[in-house]
Amino acid sequence: MGVINTVLGPIPTEQLGITAVHEHINFGQNGWYLESDFWTPISETIARAEQQLADYRALGGRTYVDLTGIGNFRSVELYRVIARATGINFVACTGFWTGMGTRPFFWDKPVEYLTDLFVKEITVGIDDTAAKAGVIKVGVSHGGLSDMDKKIYTAAGRAAVATGVPILTHLSTDAMTQLDILEAQGLSPERVVIGHADAGVDIDRKRDIAVAQRGAFVGIDNIGYETEKTPRVPWAQARKDRLRQLLDLLEAGYVKNVAVSADADVQPLGWKSPPHSVAELLTRFAPDLREEGVDESMIDQLLVGNPARLLTIQEA
Ligand SMILES: [Zn+2]
Repeated sequence: MGVINTVLGPIPTEQLGITAVHEHINFGQNGWYLESDFWTPISETIARAEQQLADYRALGGRTYVDLTGIGNFRSVELYRVIARATGINFVACTGFWTGMGTRPFFWDKPVEYLTDLFVKEITVGIDDTAAKAGVIKVGVSHGGLSDMDKKIYTAAGRAAVATGVPILTHLSTDAMTQLDILEAQGLSPERVVIGHADAGVDIDRKRDIAVAQRGAFVGIDNIGYETEKTPRVPWAQARKDRLRQLLDLLEAGYVKNVAVSADADVQPLGWKSPPHSVAELLTRFAPDLREEGVDESMIDQLLVGNPARLLTIQEA
């Protein structure tokens, strides 16, 4: 029987149910708190998170993966409060948003240090808690993979092989190089989501097919960031264009290689988001697929089967 690490302890794979693989309670860059406009009492963040996750749960959602990495205001104590209040299976991550988002403390650390850090957070716990990370987050800096990104990817690949958890990436830029680095550490592409393939600034249908052909997941994980919404964020895409992008993958036979999520921030720290919630997976995305005639078994595979296969910890 497979298991997944949640912030309240490991659970069997069968309990996952409908899962959003790339979400955030709060996400900010170092220094965001210097802008007092964005200050929010913690009670308000908790209330907002509980409301959105309760909506998601009422619609059938069961599992929520927070991909806020080290240094972007990840807060495992907050996640435990929210998990207890909502009954959602809450998965936290280790890893980093991107190399350019890391604090200077990490810049001169060797690969081995980062590998040990990730392994510790997966096998012992995050910060000073016993809440173990269930996934590893990595990402590409603006302009393409930097040396720091590559160091993080190398460490993440080694930690994923050592612990059996999957890797989810921020951005699909340099997708083949991302997979090359991870594969060189002995990690199968089947354990990787190349994320944000549906970000409006980075659409490349040929890349999507190449990622799927290699066995990795294509992350259609910005669902709800639509050009129709205001304020408009640079990574938005028209709702119908995203749907078409996904349908093309399904029609090409790659339903097994698609990972879906909303990437919604309950509390954006230091930036303005359009109205957005993980619940849109079930209020907009699934209904859009039904309207296109996609059958229920395929929708179930996208929302339940694929996340379960991805998140289940692989035995060494
Ligand atoms: Zn994200």
